[in-house]
Amino acid sequence: MSTPADSAGRTPRIVRTAAELSAAIARAIEFNAPEQGTATLGLVPTMGALHSGHESLVSTARAHNDVLVVSIFVNELQFNDAQDFARYPRTLEADVEILARAGADIVFAPQVSTVYPDGRPLIKIDSGELGSKFEGASRPGHFDGMLAVVAKLLHFAMPPATLGVPVSYRAYFGQKDAQQLVLISRMVADLNYPVEICSVPIIRSAEGLALSSRNQFLTAEQAKAALVIHRALSLVKERAERHEPLYLEDAAGLFEMEPLVELDYFELVDPRTLQELAFNCQDTPFTGEGLLLVAARVGEVRLIDNMPLGY
Ligand code: AMP
Repeated sequence: MSTPADSAGRTPRIVRTAAELSAAIARAIEFNAPEQGTATLGLVPTMGALHSGHESLVSTARAHNDVLVVSIFVNELQFNDAQDFARYPRTLEADVEILARAGADIVFAPQVSTVYPDGRPLIKIDSGELGSKFEGASRPGHFDGMLAVVAKLLHFAMPPATLGVPVSYRAYFGQKDAQQLVLISRMVADLNYPVEICSVPIIRSAEGLALSSRNQFLTAEQAKAALVIHRALSLVKERAERHEPLYLEDAAGLFEMEPLVELDYFELVDPRTLQELAFNCQDTPFTGEGLLLVAARVGEVRLIDNMPLGY
């Protein structure tokens, strides 16, 4: 049996089709599974243009699983803006180098025709009320498209039933996309997917900007202005830690001092239901748990970020 550390530095196997992926997973499990007990398979879905945020997901998944699959697919269905889709960075070669260092066993980089062989799916996953607020309100159809591809990727990488060993299956997502994570967890629970959803904390630049594949479109001046997002989140977090009233409005007011940054929303919600917790923001001291969500536009780039409070 090889150990996860053995795979670091080895070029991962790149597969394009569903059949190749299943065969590669079966082989890797056969090769890496423990002699007794349950084997573990981790999946990290991405759209590529990998940065240290993705790397953190990959190394977490690497440390916890016998076999690690990373998928790279830029899913047109979740882009509500054709220009955003067209210019989304596609850097497969560099991504594979990063994944070799991080120790992925298999890179699944399917063609559009593999994921959507009949064109756009006729049967859709409806992200419902949870998917129509916040990011869903600003990007209509985004979450339905995201759930469509995640549902498919979870199926593509499902451990083949014919293996001789039991396999426990996990998929890893970043807390950076907090609403996405809530929706995926609900889909998996509501539709009985046999997979455990694992969340990985946000990775930020040294100055506090949450890493994102779209940050490369920011000028130096815009990137500096965007740091107001982290300042506002941190101000509220400090108040929450001191159990003071949060006064969200004056934290949101920091954005008025940054003309390059246009605030979309700055909202405290229940981390599981995404219901607004407005009552917790005014004169009463903060108690319990909350998730502070923020989205802002800087030039052509939409940035999202969040901060868990009390947990
Ligand atoms: P994407 O390629 O943007 O679809 O992201 C793939 C996965 O990486 C998603 O689960 C994201 O939440 C996660 N991710 C992206 N940026 C970060 C970050 N800065 N910190 C942690 N996870 C991230």
